[in-house]
Amino acid sequence: MVDQLENSDKNLLDHLYQHVLNLEGYRNVFDDPEKLEATADYLSSALLSFGLTVDEHQFKIDDVPFRNIIGTIEAKDYQPRELLLCAHYDSAPLSPGANDNASGVAGVLEVTRWLVEQAPTKKFMVAFFTLEEIHPKTELQIRNALASSGLVDDELQFLTYHSYALIGEFEKKQEEALKKGATIQASLAFAYEQVQNSATKKERAYLKKIIELNKNITRTNWVGESICIGSTRWLANYLRENSPPKAVINFEEIGFTTAKKGLQSIPPGIDLTHCKSYKVDLQQELGNFLGIISEKNSQLLAQIMTSQCEQLVPPLPYVHFALPYNYQEIAGRALDFLRSDHAPFWREGIPAIAITDTFEFRYPFYHTNADTLEQLDFPFMGRVCQVARQAAKELLGKS
Ligand SMILES: [Zn+2]
Repeated sequence: MVDQLENSDKNLLDHLYQHVLNLEGYRNVFDDPEKLEATADYLSSALLSFGLTVDEHQFKIDDVPFRNIIGTIEAKDYQPRELLLCAHYDSAPLSPGANDNASGVAGVLEVTRWLVEQAPTKKFMVAFFTLEEIHPKTELQIRNALASSGLVDDELQFLTYHSYALIGEFEKKQEEALKKGATIQASLAFAYEQVQNSATKKERAYLKKIIELNKNITRTNWVGESICIGSTRWLANYLRENSPPKAVINFEEIGFTTAKKGLQSIPPGIDLTHCKSYKVDLQQELGNFLGIISEKNSQLLAQIMTSQCEQLVPPLPYVHFALPYNYQEIAGRALDFLRSDHAPFWREGIPAIAITDTFEFRYPFYHTNADTLEQLDFPFMGRVCQVARQAAKELLGKS
């Protein structure tokens, strides 16, 4: 696989590796604000070095500035911006985020480098979004609630197995209720009811605070209030003066595969008849494919990607999660499919797809301190980039 890839593009894997090596680390404002800034700078200079114009979109939350890095390639004749490639560059709390989402960022960078070399005649944009993972205000409130709960040490690790297991159980029960379509508040109330009898007084007080923090969150405003903060704010700002991009490809974790059977599962809320798989036997629960997620408005866009997967030599196995619903309907039945920066675009009716290794439905180190470079399958990432490049080229050549 490596040889074949290197014949066609001998530097691709090295570039991907260098990006992940540079990006890996705590990229969030609580654990390492300097690293977050250095990452934004790195992305900005990389885009400039490829020949793009870079505009930063800055916004503040409680006087703390945050930056989305936006790159544009200018065409000779004015054309509306046809295509947006995006990935979030922040990482989850206390996770070095090699797969989530240094892998996606590296992918966008390398697809961009190649597209510029192809000299497309249409405009395209690149966006690296911040604050996909957390709302800093909520995260601070959660950390304060934890720190004052008497349940954790200075590093926010639970002091007892009892607390660790109980809070884990609470989260599991909440997820169960969400999968059945409960509101955020109902799911939290259900989870509380399930664990309260075995909880200590301190644990109950902490859980009550968490419930309180979520009192204004709904299944539909969750995107923009709890997650995808940077992309939501950028899009609202952008649409004030510009027409929407015609197509959006969001790179969300493209680095992990496994040959171990039983690790791969399908996110809840999707009917298997809405999954088109190619060279994948879902029964084997084998995580060796690219996941492509689309909704009602983005089925054609997804098909451009799937046909490029089939044309790659050798073909790239994929599962196309083709949700036949709009944003509101997905919010009501399959929240997991909203968990990245394509979701704010769906809400505006803009055709967007996500390409992904399916995050924790495959990856055991999702959002942990073990999400490191060593876990990544670089040849797979290279193949995903090859497919995405051809799909992007096709999109830019159309219309
Ligand atoms: Zn992510």
